[in-house]
Amino acid sequence: MIEKRFGEFGGAYIPELLVPVLKELETCFEKAVKSSEFQAKLDSYLSRYAGRPTPLYLAENLSRRLGNIKVYLKREDLLHTGAHKINNTIGQALLAKFMGKKRVIAETGAGQHGVATAAAAALLGLECEIYMGSKDAERQKLNVYRMNLLGAKVIKVSSGSKTLKDAINDALRDYTTNCNDTHYVLGSALGPHPYPGIVRHFQSVIGLEARKQVIEQEGRLPDYLVACVGGGSNAIGLFSHFMDDKDVKMVGVEAGGEGISTGRHAARISGDGKKGVLHGSLTYVLQDPFGQIRETHSVSAGLDYPAIGPEHAYLSTTRRVEYVHVSDSDALGGFHLLSTTEGIIPALESAHAIAYLPVLSGKCKKGDVAILNLSGRGDKDVEYVGRIEGLI
Ligand SMILES: *Cc1c(COP(=O)(O)O)cnc(C)c1O
Repeated sequence: MIEKRFGEFGGAYIPELLVPVLKELETCFEKAVKSSEFQAKLDSYLSRYAGRPTPLYLAENLSRRLGNIKVYLKREDLLHTGAHKINNTIGQALLAKFMGKKRVIAETGAGQHGVATAAAAALLGLECEIYMGSKDAERQKLNVYRMNLLGAKVIKVSSGSKTLKDAINDALRDYTTNCNDTHYVLGSALGPHPYPGIVRHFQSVIGLEARKQVIEQEGRLPDYLVACVGGGSNAIGLFSHFMDDKDVKMVGVEAGGEGISTGRHAARISGDGKKGVLHGSLTYVLQDPFGQIRETHSVSAGLDYPAIGPEHAYLSTTRRVEYVHVSDSDALGGFHLLSTTEGIIPALESAHAIAYLPVLSGKCKKGDVAILNLSGRGDKDVEYVGRIEGLI
């Protein structure tokens, strides 16, 4: 049911001890998605707790400013905890219960996935421990406290670069040791099989709704889908329900940071990533000539990861999806553009997708329709942007 590989990408490059654990996860997931009881619970939490369906909003002011293109925003920013991440954490926390697990663990970089996991664990009465690089925990004290408020314990990881990739390593180690009672809630459509498929499934509700909504409102399918790509979960969640609609063009926007030539970026496909294995999956990875993982950079923490979900690697080679990058400074422009035209402050991650719209509009025919996945709200970024701009 879930592909183990996307073309040559994906797979499960894992220690032998994890093989039976991930096999059990795959089997249980396939059982769960066929269970009407599981689906009914998931639907109920997504609608009554998280706030689904999210609106598809025609951004008329923004569209007028852009000129050619008519932009609809899929409002994932309106969900509980402020982003699409809750779709996946509720899904996986329910899956943990379905498998009879009492404890969930997760990794987090900036803290967004940690908070969404802690919320889902509190909701479903699961013990929760979150792995976070000690450098990230220092930078994101407020999110550490949020996770604590939600009843989760934060484990600070001080190995390696003390950031996200090190947190994932430790979470995988914990999972290997404690798999009897523990489920690892991975945060994006990446990692070893079956995670990319599981996360895509739980995020595909975005595309399912958007497809129905655009047909209702516009009477036809869109010409373009646009989404930012960190690990790739919000993008694949939107794209997956349009894959067979050959006239719908798709664009994934990566973090161009300070420019590809500076090396300070997180553009794995549209920049200078090379094929490699990270966190159990063959994909494009930012690495040095010796295969060591490079330090990445982005103004937005959610896009700042050295690998990309394997399905995106595949979709770039088949050219079904076009991958582009947007610099830090252009993303800040996107942050202001949406705020001033529509009164919506986007997450810095989503602001990368917004910032690509003027470029896209330039290539469009008048009246072309785009759906942009507004993956999250910008409240978390307001203070940071104000400081960068020297205004607070
Ligand atoms: C985490 C995050 C992202 C990036 O993750 P994906 O898995 O690529 O979707 C994008 N937008 C927001 C608001 C996020 O919190």
